[in-house]
Amino acid sequence: MYLKRLELQGFKSFADKTVLEFRPGITSVIGPNGSGKSNISDSIRWVLGEQSMKSLRGSKSEDIIFAGTQSRKSLGFAESSIVIDNTDGKLPIEFSEVTVTRRIYRSGESGYYINKTPCRLKDVLELFMDTGIGKDGYSIIGQGKIDEILSNKSEDRRAIFEEAAGIVKYRVRKADSEKKLEQTKLNLLRINDILSEIEANIEPLKKQSEKAKKFLDLREELKGIEIGLFLYNIDNYKEKIAEIAKNIEVFANQKNDEDAKMQEKQTLKENLKSAIDEITLKIEETQNLSFEMREKQEKINSDINIANERIANNRENFDRYLKEIEEVNLRISELEEEKKQRLEKKTNLSSNREKFAKELEQKEKELEEISTKLSAEEKKIEEKKKKVEENTDLKYEKATLINTQEVNYENLEKREKTVKNEISNTISELDQKRLEKDEISKTFYEIEAKRNDASKKLEEINEKKEQSISKLKEYQDKINALSSEVRVKDSKLKFLSDMEKEKEGYIRSVKSLLLDCDKDSNLKKGMHGVLANIISVPKEYETAIEMTLGQTLQNIVTDTEEDAKKLIEHLRKNNLGRASFLPIASVKGKKVDRLIKNNLGGVIGIASDLVKVNKKYESIILNLLGRTVIVDTMETAIILARQNRYSFRIVTLKGDVINPSGAITGGSATTKFNNIIGRTTRDTRIRKRYKKIK
Ligand code: ATP
Repeated sequence: MYLKRLELQGFKSFADKTVLEFRPGITSVIGPNGSGKSNISDSIRWVLGEQSMKSLRGSKSEDIIFAGTQSRKSLGFAESSIVIDNTDGKLPIEFSEVTVTRRIYRSGESGYYINKTPCRLKDVLELFMDTGIGKDGYSIIGQGKIDEILSNKSEDRRAIFEEAAGIVKYRVRKADSEKKLEQTKLNLLRINDILSEIEANIEPLKKQSEKAKKFLDLREELKGIEIGLFLYNIDNYKEKIAEIAKNIEVFANQKNDEDAKMQEKQTLKENLKSAIDEITLKIEETQNLSFEMREKQEKINSDINIANERIANNRENFDRYLKEIEEVNLRISELEEEKKQRLEKKTNLSSNREKFAKELEQKEKELEEISTKLSAEEKKIEEKKKKVEENTDLKYEKATLINTQEVNYENLEKREKTVKNEISNTISELDQKRLEKDEISKTFYEIEAKRNDASKKLEEINEKKEQSISKLKEYQDKINALSSEVRVKDSKLKFLSDMEKEKEGYIRSVKSLLLDCDKDSNLKKGMHGVLANIISVPKEYETAIEMTLGQTLQNIVTDTEEDAKKLIEHLRKNNLGRASFLPIASVKGKKVDRLIKNNLGGVIGIASDLVKVNKKYESIILNLLGRTVIVDTMETAIILARQNRYSFRIVTLKGDVINPSGAITGGSATTKFNNIIGRTTRDTRIRKRYKKIK
């Protein structure tokens, strides 16, 4: 089994993906100071589950993510993978090549993967157990680690040999089982406590739960009703809009119909107008005709009069001719008388006979002429009579025509009246329709306004809906972010509580004593815990306080000297090693009473003032830190020490110490008390945050 390859991305100084291939044999990495050699071994330890940021030379987990340079932006995550050749099957996994990956994001999310499958830290630790590879194994020896191993107590070295001998696995399993057993017992006790507590609370809680349930039910109901109402309103508005649209269509159709009707009426009106015009024309024509007829009648009448006059004239002539005939007849008789006389005279006057014959002949001729004249006149009279008759017929004919025309005229007058009535009816109907149209237009505009209102409301509702959706998304994002924080906090809490339960980080004697105290309440009586655990130190002073207190951090605080005695006896009886105790009753301290600063900047304060602690431990803190002043740098420390004539201890933020004796201790600060300071405070802080997020 050997380490074949190391792949880094975003890990400390390795921003880009970097692959380091290792061949069998020795591989040396060389490079100038600060070029990232130690980062390589850090990355291997990190993959193997290193939790202490201090041993990875950082202060918080983010410090291992590439922080960026002047020319390059920082990255959001760091990843390191080791690829191990497992052809000899040393690792308890059925793969000939095993890739272990660890990844962390700036948000705090992190995870382990074996052959790209997500797994727990425990799985990684178990995989390498007893192989010699591991964050605490002897296979990775960092700078100054050899010195540390050599100067360690034999008990601490034992762990390394146990790891090499391959029995750690069983020891860990045994410890695990014991721990689990213990924990189960504790859990049972706690459950009993909780049960009795819960039983007392059960009745009020039941009521509260009922109330809460009712509230939830009602809230659900309200939500349902609100959504229903909302949907109902939307449906209603939609229906109304559809109805309005339909109405608009109907009104538009009606309007079109009315327009068409109006058009028809208009054409009817036009037609009627032209008919009236025609009729008026005809009336005029008829009137003209009637005038003409009257004129003709008058003319005929005058003709008749003339003819009558002529007839009268002819009658007169006739009478006159009759008289003349009578006269002629009279004459004839006279002539006949004369003829007789003549004849007598003929006889008498035979001599005058010829004369008288001639005279007769002439007179007969004259008679004949008069007779032809008379018959001609009679013919003329006949003709005149005939004409009179004809004219009388014509007169009757014309009178009938005039009568017909008069009837027509009356009819036309009647028709004109009807048409006029119809026109006025149509006009009033038209006015009515116009009014109706105005009414419809008004309704139409009202409906349109309503529709616009509804559309506006719909838009507003839609907008509100959009806003609600985006708010919902925001909340969802927040919930997601908080959930991931909860997960991180959860694992941190678990990690811290595991550490506290296992008393990790304490020396063996203290650890055993604490575990025994947890089991035995009599033993625990009067014992307050480890000093490191009862103080809370701001992060920036952690190194200084650690360097000041050193091993004292693992001292056990008790009420009295008797309590300390009882615990020492327990240690001795069980051969658990040695431990130091700080009885509250006997440990007294004093604070620096005079601190000469002379305007010296960089003097931060007296250490006991910078540490937060319960009032009852004040005397212990004064004893341990009351005569220690924390400053920023060594330069300040030296000046302050001289000004105050070395009357107290001075510690720099990096952990360099000037003792009252004048002795100076300093150098690189490797911590031995990982995570033991303020573990409880951290735990409470995380719990508070956890509760708040929940
Ligand atoms: P030396 O020979 O002095 O031991 P080295 O070669 O071991 O030095 P490292 O200590 O491994 O060097 O690397 C330190 C370098 O890594 C420093 O230059 C530091 O700026 C860089 N570095 C450490 N953490 C980050 C980080 N988060 N982002 C970017 N660079 C980092």
